[in-house]
Amino acid sequence: MNILLIGSGGREHALAWKIAQSPLLTRLVIAPGNPGMASLGECVAIKVTEVDKLVALARSMSADLVVVGPESALAEGIADALMKVGIPCFGPTQTAAQLESSKAFTKDFCKRHDIPTAAYETFEDIDAAKAYLKTLPAPYIIKADGLAAGKGVAISPDLPDAYAELEAMMSGRFGTSGARVVIEEFMTGEEASIFALCDGETALLFGWAQDHKRAFDGDTGPNTGGMGTYSPAPIVTSALLDITQRDILDPTMQGMKAEGNPYRGVLYAGLMVEGGNPRLVEYNARFGDPECQVLMLRLKSDIVPYLLAAARGGLKYLPAPEWHEEAAVCVVYAAKGYPDSPIGGSIIKGAEQDFGDGVSVFHAGTSLAEDGSLLAAGGRVLNVCARGATIKEARDAAYDAVSKIQWPGGFYRSDIGWRALS
Ligand code: AMP
Repeated sequence: MNILLIGSGGREHALAWKIAQSPLLTRLVIAPGNPGMASLGECVAIKVTEVDKLVALARSMSADLVVVGPESALAEGIADALMKVGIPCFGPTQTAAQLESSKAFTKDFCKRHDIPTAAYETFEDIDAAKAYLKTLPAPYIIKADGLAAGKGVAISPDLPDAYAELEAMMSGRFGTSGARVVIEEFMTGEEASIFALCDGETALLFGWAQDHKRAFDGDTGPNTGGMGTYSPAPIVTSALLDITQRDILDPTMQGMKAEGNPYRGVLYAGLMVEGGNPRLVEYNARFGDPECQVLMLRLKSDIVPYLLAAARGGLKYLPAPEWHEEAAVCVVYAAKGYPDSPIGGSIIKGAEQDFGDGVSVFHAGTSLAEDGSLLAAGGRVLNVCARGATIKEARDAAYDAVSKIQWPGGFYRSDIGWRALS
């Protein structure tokens, strides 16, 4: 098979690493890719939002499958454009991707299909929004409707703070994404991220992981795209998976299909779990980054038949994927100053060495200098991932590899997985 993979982050490096192991693969092309992926496939310098160029590339390489990593490509309509030319795409259409790109769409959808989630109201008028806030108990949850790079949710401890957040959001902090807001009930419990592959009819569970969103140890500091992950997540029991499948994933697949908007690709369900019962916090229309990295390390089955079946249909004929018994941990090595203003251009040494069995270093924001040295070129730069018999062993192996990389310009959290270990 000829496969085109779209993206340039650690998530896509991990997908490329797994796809490259498939005996079904003839040729892997990655657009745009990064220096870490160059040994796994041919990297072509096309941006993930350049839909016409990506479609032309897929046609010229006779792609049998296009795998889309980031949400920005989906929001640009890459899946719709590929569908028009008859190339199977792993990733939802623009309208189906609204499950991620519009919180109001998802909340209304949950209401129509009886999917458990927090009570909410949607507002385009700030006075009406303030009046509603007054009727709720603290703390207050205010969400920009549209995509806001994971930063569109405010949790306010009191009304004055909630009003200030509302005003900032509705007057353009996230551009047009905040013109409409969702205000919802505060849910208590523990969070879990569950992934399912979807082909428009069937949702097939495809792993789960726990992430660390805050920049610094002890879950302090600003929110980030994610500073580390571990899998399995002790909170995810087989009972929780059964309830999630029955009450959340299956009704979503059926509802989207019934509304003429079948969902294909990966559905990432962010859940709040209390008393063993999950409620949907949010959906994402792509793999989490860095959740994907630990999933790829733990996935034993060949991923390609699953990606292809999600794109073309037929997931129900595939067996449940097999997973390594071992745990996996991913430590994100970020540039100093991340997330606000990461400092680029520093030299990284030692990232390409052989760290031994079960350890993988995936690149995210890296570039190559003219002399071939590896440079930091983004916020999150390297993902140091390891497998181990337990989360503790995986974590020790990941931090051992981190200690062998010389990068004075970087920082990482030293407590990834602490919740699972305590
Ligand atoms: P979201 O982008 O919708 O996942 O929200 C980001 C984070 O805000 C979630 O991971 C939760 O930690 C928190 N959050 C969002 N909605 C709620 C809610 N209704 N109750 C409590 N916490 C929430």
